[in-house]
Amino acid sequence: MDGNAALAALCARWRDIWLLTTTSALLGWDEETMMPAAAADHRGEQLALLAGLQHERLLDDRLAALCEDAGEAGPEALAQVRAVRRAIDRARRLPRALVEEQKRVHAAAQRAWVEARERHTFSVFAPHLTRVVELKRAEARCLSVDGAASWAALLDEYEPGVDARALCATLDALRTELAPLVQRAAGRASSARLRGTFPRERQQVLIDGVARMLGFDMRRGRIDVTTHPFCSTAGTHDVRVAIRYHDQDVREALTSIAHEVGHALYEQGVPAALQGTPAGEPSSLGLHESQSRLWENQVLRGLPFWRHLLPWVARLFPEALEGARLDEVFVAINAVEPGPIRVGADEATYNLHICLRIELEQALISGALAVRELPDAWHEAYHRTLGLVPKDDREGVLQDGHWSAGMFGYFPTYTLGNLYAAQLFEAARAALPGLDDEMAAGRFEALLGWLRVHVHAHASLRSATEIVTAATGEAPGTRAFLAHLRTRLAETGQG
Ligand code: ZN
Repeated sequence: MDGNAALAALCARWRDIWLLTTTSALLGWDEETMMPAAAADHRGEQLALLAGLQHERLLDDRLAALCEDAGEAGPEALAQVRAVRRAIDRARRLPRALVEEQKRVHAAAQRAWVEARERHTFSVFAPHLTRVVELKRAEARCLSVDGAASWAALLDEYEPGVDARALCATLDALRTELAPLVQRAAGRASSARLRGTFPRERQQVLIDGVARMLGFDMRRGRIDVTTHPFCSTAGTHDVRVAIRYHDQDVREALTSIAHEVGHALYEQGVPAALQGTPAGEPSSLGLHESQSRLWENQVLRGLPFWRHLLPWVARLFPEALEGARLDEVFVAINAVEPGPIRVGADEATYNLHICLRIELEQALISGALAVRELPDAWHEAYHRTLGLVPKDDREGVLQDGHWSAGMFGYFPTYTLGNLYAAQLFEAARAALPGLDDEMAAGRFEALLGWLRVHVHAHASLRSATEIVTAATGEAPGTRAFLAHLRTRLAETGQG
């Protein structure tokens, strides 16, 4: 078959898979925002069927056959073929029964996790997590080259091509740099100036305004409320973010909207011609996370944006913020306050949480740690690294739902996101000399435009490492992140 005709046929077949993916995403969004609790089993069955159908489509021999000819249509076609081959290879290695069983087990585990959180006891969740881990180990054995239950094989799902050993070495080096920075900064500043009374209706006005200001296209997305903030793509013009509010702390909604809108801008920024094609997905989850982190940390926690934000926020919430000074809120939003919860952790402490998670999940997958031993191992790791002990399992092992959803190998994407974000923002700032003034005026078109060209436009035509290197002139590393962090700690009197 002619290369172009094969490519068109390949993309048409892929489109059905994409429709199944986005339908699952829509059901997942509903599960997290609207679904009655009693519907969990039925939802598990629905998602299992969709996953099975997707699996079947990927294993259709005609899809693999089209890859043979489609690659001849040029370099972009080669990238499309590479994405399809990767998905087929993965599907071939994983038995359909395992994929479907995982969907059912994860749906039940997520429900048990919510119940365990409400009752503050790990034991409700433990048998479910044990089953999740067994199935993840089975998955890792199918995916790894040597048939071992390897964590690296799970990482590859989220970060294609990233070498697990090199990544762990980077994380160890980062941990060594961060521990003394956190120790020195802890207790020197407080977030108290941004706490007080923040009525929900007015927070919603603020959140809506911030999302639009950053560039979120409301005609192609929506904002809802959930337990654990997320962004989900339910279709080409349907990117949904969900955040949470805290009536006594406005930072919760502000940081979560900047974060999730960052993800959404990436999804909304994939070029129309690539959407729904094999290479139309963002390149890696670490790169995805870099987009959320950049808007959350470099922009929302930055002084220029607060020049614009503070007068508005003070007018909206006079009870809490009347008379607040710019330097006070800048310190408050950047206060290093080591605590047991990862989400909402300050920038300095955040990656230490990630290092701990990776250490624990690697031990679970290798079999060195049993699920029943997890709460104790968790407490020990937190005490050793952050010098604190969670007061119960809700503040400890039950604090987020990643493991109940089978997301093992996912945590490194957060730290990679932090590293990529600092590097990308540094390059954007060098390329856009008026950027600070624009942010101080609440204008973000130039920054978003730069990200569109240097990151979003590439979707997964190139790898995350290639995209970051080309955009910044430097291979991904820890330099820019540590420089950013040291500057910010110095500016806020915590360095
Ligand atoms: Zn994120």
